[in-house]
Amino acid sequence: EGTLLDQLLTRAKATPDAPAFHYFDVTVSYHQLDEWSTRLAAKFAQWGVGRGDRVAIYTQNNPAFLIGQYAAWKRGAIVVPLNPMFKEKELEYHLNDSGAKVMVALESLYETCAKSVVPVTCVQNVVVTHETDFLTEGHVAAIPMFREIVRAKQGDADDLMEVLVSMSADDSVCVANRPDDIAFLVYTSGTTGNPKGAMNLHRNVLFNATVYQTWMQMGEMDRILGLAPLFHITGLVGHVALSMQAGAPLVLFHRFDPQEVFRLIQMWQPTMTVASITAFIALMNHPASRTANLQSLTKCYSGGAPIPPSLTEQFEERFGVYIHNIYGLTESNSPTHAVPLYQRAPVDPQSGALSIGLPVPNCEARIVEVENPQREVPAGMAGEYAVRGPMIFAGYWNKPEATEKAFHEGYFLTGDVAVMDEGGWFYIVDRKKDMIIASGFKVWPREVEDMLYQHPAVKEAAVIGVPDAYRGETVKAFIAVKDEYVDHVEPEEIIQFCKKRMAAYKYPRQVVILPELPKTATGKFLRRELRAH
Ligand code: ATP
Repeated sequence: EGTLLDQLLTRAKATPDAPAFHYFDVTVSYHQLDEWSTRLAAKFAQWGVGRGDRVAIYTQNNPAFLIGQYAAWKRGAIVVPLNPMFKEKELEYHLNDSGAKVMVALESLYETCAKSVVPVTCVQNVVVTHETDFLTEGHVAAIPMFREIVRAKQGDADDLMEVLVSMSADDSVCVANRPDDIAFLVYTSGTTGNPKGAMNLHRNVLFNATVYQTWMQMGEMDRILGLAPLFHITGLVGHVALSMQAGAPLVLFHRFDPQEVFRLIQMWQPTMTVASITAFIALMNHPASRTANLQSLTKCYSGGAPIPPSLTEQFEERFGVYIHNIYGLTESNSPTHAVPLYQRAPVDPQSGALSIGLPVPNCEARIVEVENPQREVPAGMAGEYAVRGPMIFAGYWNKPEATEKAFHEGYFLTGDVAVMDEGGWFYIVDRKKDMIIASGFKVWPREVEDMLYQHPAVKEAAVIGVPDAYRGETVKAFIAVKDEYVDHVEPEEIIQFCKKRMAAYKYPRQVVILPELPKTATGKFLRRELRAH
């Protein structure tokens, strides 16, 4: 039993010169990462950051995220990863709720959003980074997404690059962490209410980093493509903690851009990735995908949202790469289920759902009656998925009531409706709260979405229930269409397509075509926004 800080210290000692990560074309070694995080920890020490204090990180996938994270742990502090899409109000909520003392922020975000909030919150010091930090001028000129960037003038916050030059690398400022210390407060995205900070302990995260490593047979020969945002549990565990655990360098880039992703795949030949299905949809539908080669990605996983079975086929046809399903939540530090490497997920004959796989080691997974969690349901029957095991978090930050409600007899109640088959494979039917009752019948959006994806024009699909005077609720679909179908498909055609293939209460009676569906930073469709549409 160690900690996430031990992961880095062990690597920096055993293989100091081996690459910890690649940021675009630049390589950073374990030794460098270790040294830089000590220098930043020295600054944190000057600012009075100590055990149990919160350090917020508000930036995209860049080196400052990693340096900030390890620097916080070197002071025994808790890392609070924040979504870089947050605007003032959201930022204020998360900073106040976590009581963050210090923030590591992207300079542009600090200038546009954070600056007005910081003086009125608990945050006392800010260190800023810039997306082009650590890159040479030559790199910046060669990477299209950076051409527009003009380095902003130095403001009132401390500059990361100056801190790294001016502070000492003497590790006397570093303290040890314990497995039971909180490593992260990871905020739930709030699709189900006010965001709550999940207290994820070092040992919880470490356990699932090991699960990823063994499940995906990861070692020093692997490289991880950083498609998921680092602030999300998928990035924190399935990218960073896994990368340290396996000694497999991480390929980082500042923001998702298919063309740049294809170039970096060509360059670094990553073997593994995990991301949301919408990232894979975007790669597949980009014009450059026709010549892109993704064959190095033999360990390709999608989690965080259901995978429409027809999409795995299309992706495999296009790239020759099979997308494995993986299931997890913030509260479980990601995977509780995954499809084993080199195996294919079965499809549930009843619901049509693609299996999320088998429970990972030490995961006690059971399906219980909805609203009656003491009663387990037999194989083949739908119920709420409940889980217990070493990957489950310690509760919600400052929210004992929410914590209490989330557990039953030590089992975390996920809010997902699931079925287990006789062979032990699990299937998510849908989220409990997304169920639609149309004409008295249950309709699960996922099933309708899977059908919509079978239409050749459909690029993205999300389904919600809307009030209906006659049926109580009725099914409404929002879709975005592939480029070649824009202006060539009408809602009525989509309705008829589903009507022919689904029961009368299930097919969408309303279809709205949007240029693009609203998504969270992690690529999940924002049903909340669709409901307001
Ligand atoms: P909030 O809890 O605030 O709504 P969120 O649900 O987006 O936020 P996450 O922890 O990121 O927070 O998401 C976990 C949820 O994602 C699961 O409960 C499940 O509904 C869904 N999910 C994750 N992986 C899969 C998968 N492979 N297939 C289907 N659904 C999945």
